[in-house]
Amino acid sequence: MTQGSTIIVNDNFGTLAVALHAFSPYCISDSFISLTSTAENLAQNKLPENGAQLLTSLQQPDGEFDFILIKAPKTVAYLEDTLIRLQARLKPDTQLIVAGMVKNLPASVWQTVELLVGPTAPSRAVKKARLIYAQPDSQRNILANPYPVTYQLENTDYQISNHANVFSHKSLDIGTRFFLQHLPQDNKYRQVVDLGCGNGVVGLMFAANNSGAQLHFIDESYMAVASAQLNFERAFPARKASYTAIDALRDLSPDSVDLVLCNPPFHQQTSIGCHIAMRMFQQAKNVLRSEGELWVIGNRHLGYQASLKKYFPTVELVASNVKFIILKASC
Ligand code: SAM
Repeated sequence: MTQGSTIIVNDNFGTLAVALHAFSPYCISDSFISLTSTAENLAQNKLPENGAQLLTSLQQPDGEFDFILIKAPKTVAYLEDTLIRLQARLKPDTQLIVAGMVKNLPASVWQTVELLVGPTAPSRAVKKARLIYAQPDSQRNILANPYPVTYQLENTDYQISNHANVFSHKSLDIGTRFFLQHLPQDNKYRQVVDLGCGNGVVGLMFAANNSGAQLHFIDESYMAVASAQLNFERAFPARKASYTAIDALRDLSPDSVDLVLCNPPFHQQTSIGCHIAMRMFQQAKNVLRSEGELWVIGNRHLGYQASLKKYFPTVELVASNVKFIILKASC
């Protein structure tokens, strides 16, 4: 390996970047939290700032590369998008390696790598993890990127575009659909956050029925925020909104928001659980004004009602069906 000849994609918290810092790799991630953690881990290990060059999933380094190391993402769609974006970075002798737990490397991953790069070879499995080695095939077809993909939002004229790594990118999620049917409408909501906005459909539909509200779209995924911006600006070209890739509400001022709308994540990268939702509820309490509200949708079994009561004096049931529950928590 030589300086600047390596790209790392999807490094969770910068372990690979720290280990390979001597080669000044480019690190590409769709996660604000991953890129921030990578920078913090380089600093904590007293490595130079240029130990790695951090890029979002929507950015690309220039030139061709000797090594491309990809941690297998959660979805084949995002792997497909990544490999298509990297086409111009491949040269005939680039060594591309996809790493993952064996259970996260189904046949569709191998097929996608073979189609978009070239012949593959497996490593031996070690502790249930494996590497896929791929060598670029000079005869391969360079495919056009199908992402973002767009669907028409049911019962509306709105077009909803989705970059590859966006939650429920092919169609409207059933929980989100239920949330859309029960969004509040009132002039009192002025500053409104769509927290964990994904493609922004919740904030967009809220805005459609609340013309005086200013929307703020927040997600830790760069592709989510870019999709939300695309969708909102197309739906409301004259309306101002903000679009921020950040870790939840941590940088918002206290007492600055009237309403937070949230369909919380149940996982962040590979870690699964309600802890992210809990932190979102706690932060929402902090940024909401004294009359502010947090509206949340969740699966019934997640027990959000009890969790919200830890932070909010009043928690009311707005609607429920066999699968989902919508709650309003007031300050
Ligand atoms: N609001 C969209 C909808 O209803 O279709 C997406 C909801 S999806 C269940 C949860 C979203 O939270 C994902 O887009 C995910 O990227 C985002 N997310 C996860 N962790 C986050 C964090 N720490 N800060 C902000 N957003 C986060």
